[in-house]
Amino acid sequence: MRLSRYYLPTLKDTPAEAQIASHRLMLRAGMVRQSSAGIYSWLPLGLRVLKNIETIVREEQNAIGCHEVLMPTIQPADLWRKSGRYDDYGPEMLRIVDRHERDMLYGPTNEEQITEIFAETVRSYRELPQMLYHIQWKFRDEVRPRFGVMRGREFLMKDAYSFDLNSEGARLSYNKMFVSYLKTYERLGLKAIPMAADTGPIGGDMSHEFLILADTGESEIACHRDFMDLSLIGENIDFDGDLQPIVDRFTAKYAATDEMRNPETEKQLGDQLITARGIEVGHIFNFGTKYSKPMGAKVAGPDGHDVFVEMGSYGIGVSRLVGAIIEASHDDDGIIWPDAVAPFSVGILNLKSGDAACDQACTGIYDTLRTQGRDVLYDDRDARAGTKFADADLIGLPWQLIVGPRGVKNGLVELKNRKSGAREELSLESALSKISE
Ligand code: ATP
Ligand code: MG
Repeated sequence: MRLSRYYLPTLKDTPAEAQIASHRLMLRAGMVRQSSAGIYSWLPLGLRVLKNIETIVREEQNAIGCHEVLMPTIQPADLWRKSGRYDDYGPEMLRIVDRHERDMLYGPTNEEQITEIFAETVRSYRELPQMLYHIQWKFRDEVRPRFGVMRGREFLMKDAYSFDLNSEGARLSYNKMFVSYLKTYERLGLKAIPMAADTGPIGGDMSHEFLILADTGESEIACHRDFMDLSLIGENIDFDGDLQPIVDRFTAKYAATDEMRNPETEKQLGDQLITARGIEVGHIFNFGTKYSKPMGAKVAGPDGHDVFVEMGSYGIGVSRLVGAIIEASHDDDGIIWPDAVAPFSVGILNLKSGDAACDQACTGIYDTLRTQGRDVLYDDRDARAGTKFADADLIGLPWQLIVGPRGVKNGLVELKNRKSGAREELSLESALSKISE
């Protein structure tokens, strides 16, 4: 992409309404624009990142045999009357009346919708287990929408649902999702800690929230120091095998959000304990027959008798993740994207656009990188070098190839790594091979 022809409305001044770094940086980097409180338009740069995150989430869901569907944003109220949640949900639900005076709503989540589909289409235990997901916009009329896309009213969520014949099956589905979430966050460059969450009247231990640590997180958390070194990197996971040992490894140590904290345990942990703030980026939950019973989702079991299916739901805050990743990874100059989600992997900064030698060198590099299938942003604008440096850092390009007249004369370019800040002068070939390592 040539920056001179791109749409990148960056802002010089820090917008007054933005209280936290990710919100400020997303506005300044021209990623989003607010439409009304908690509702945003995604501009090209922001949308690229959102799509990159979506792709990783999608790949990891597909990898465990969870199948993608797409359910509507607008749902009939009657569906929610069946589960009893229409009246329970409260003012967070946006209620709409259509021209025939039918009560509708903008879905805050999709348990009812998916349970109805399942109930109408699946008849036998032989068709189980089943896992379905979609990545769809949700609406929750939050009391206090704030922090940009982190607590929006309209937001993008991946929500998956599992259906099993019995609680043993439900445990297997839950474990698959649990481990798949760990992998998803690792691929996104995040350290997300699974924390036991409230299971309400259902009871049991199958509810976890995944939180990343950040000073601006909304919840106060505490966890064992060992979580900092726990990781799945390099492990080859067989999702059809026994995942319980991995789940055990990630749940053995203490980790709790606000409402689940235990002062006794924390005292015993002493300096093994970390207290911090966290951002919830996912939540998985087994709720047994809570929806299958009222909505009639049953299958014929092996003995011919009908059984209500055991269900779970599994959410990831896809649009919140854009903000969360920035909270976890930025500095005073701007965003530092993990490679996996960066809007462009490489930037070319032409320090003297209009100079024949510089233009020629940059166009050559641009073409080479594009042929290699790289996402490149070529800053060919007629602008000062300082502006180009600042913008490349602001929008967080992981690698920056800096091309100026002096270097070009000697066949050299400068290569900057956004994360480490390291800059070195190299031959073009060395620079290109370095960024494709
Ligand atoms: P929170 O406690 O933050 O309100 P929740 O418990 O209401 O979250 P879930 O219903 O479990 O959230 O939704 C799944 C995921 O969707 C959450 O883990 C979070 O990442 C994301 N999410 C929830 N509410 C919002 C919101 N208002 N804006 C952006 N993302 C959200
Ligand atoms: Mg909520």
